[in-house]
Amino acid sequence: MKRLDCAIDGCHATIEAESEDAVMTQVGAHAAEAHPDLELDDETVEGIRSQIMTV
Ligand SMILES: [Zn+2]
Repeated sequence: MKRLDCAIDGCHATIEAESEDAVMTQVGAHAAEAHPDLELDDETVEGIRSQIMTV
């Protein structure tokens, strides 16, 4: 499993999925719902991807 703790201040969401790509899909949905102001540009996406842990 892959796990990502949302890095946004004050957000304690944890996203778990079978693969990095599946995590990133859920990140997109989570960001749209919880962080609509967050701009998911390439740099941000890569930064988020680098924080994914294998569990
Ligand atoms: Zn969040």
